[in-house]
Amino acid sequence: MKRIEILNIDIDNFTKTELLNELSESIRRDQRKFLVTANPEIIMMANKDLNFARAVQGADYVVADGIGLIIGSKIIGHPLKERIPGVELMQELLNLAEKNNLSIYLYGAKPEVLKKLRTVIRETYSKVTIAGSSDGYTGSPEEVAKQIKATAPDLVFVALGAPKQESWIYNNYTDFSKGVFVGVGGSFDVLSGTVKRAPKIWRTLNLEWLYRILKQPSRWRRSMLLPAYLAAVLRSRLRQ
Ligand code: UDP
Repeated sequence: MKRIEILNIDIDNFTKTELLNELSESIRRDQRKFLVTANPEIIMMANKDLNFARAVQGADYVVADGIGLIIGSKIIGHPLKERIPGVELMQELLNLAEKNNLSIYLYGAKPEVLKKLRTVIRETYSKVTIAGSSDGYTGSPEEVAKQIKATAPDLVFVALGAPKQESWIYNNYTDFSKGVFVGVGGSFDVLSGTVKRAPKIWRTLNLEWLYRILKQPSRWRRSMLLPAYLAAVLRSRLRQ
């Protein structure tokens, strides 16, 4: 199956490689695309807030970032092929940008995080052009839109957290002629070296979410959504 519906949201059933091939083709053709990296939190938010649901459903691609979506897809009997973590997707897109001399725009995160990320990208990806950047606290959303319009970058990474990042992309992206727009959550924090990703063993055991909670206890409240999410998926399965 190409798309799998979990609680009214269609999730694209891609492997990371298949998704990258699609996006690379879109960039080659100068197309405009909007991608959501979804997790249970996003699915639950979309089921509560109609405006947010419209933004997510308006995306060209919705891919499974969290392990919760993989589990949900198994519960409903249509397993998704694999998890595509936002931070890995961003890394792969930067590799693609390096290979093809692409330009990027970075929007989001704290000013010092963004500054570090710009340095890391300049040092690691010498062929990538940073068309512009704006942090997610002092930057003005209107000014960001203006800069993107003026520079027409190939890739726009938006790291404002959900629902802000998806809403900003949804409300603005039709004003731009081209570009792949991706909401990447906390990826700037990780790729700048500010926050460490879970060690490999935690990731292999699908426990990255638990590692993040233990490292940032403020995330605990957000994870309380998980049981409600799983119960809702189970109920939807029983209704099938
Ligand atoms: N953020 C931002 N502006 C805001 C709120 C958040 O730029 O008004 C940034 C925050 O600094 C972090 C990212 O958005 O870099 C979201 O991180 P989080 O870990 O919450 O995202 P998740 O991956 O869990 O969606």
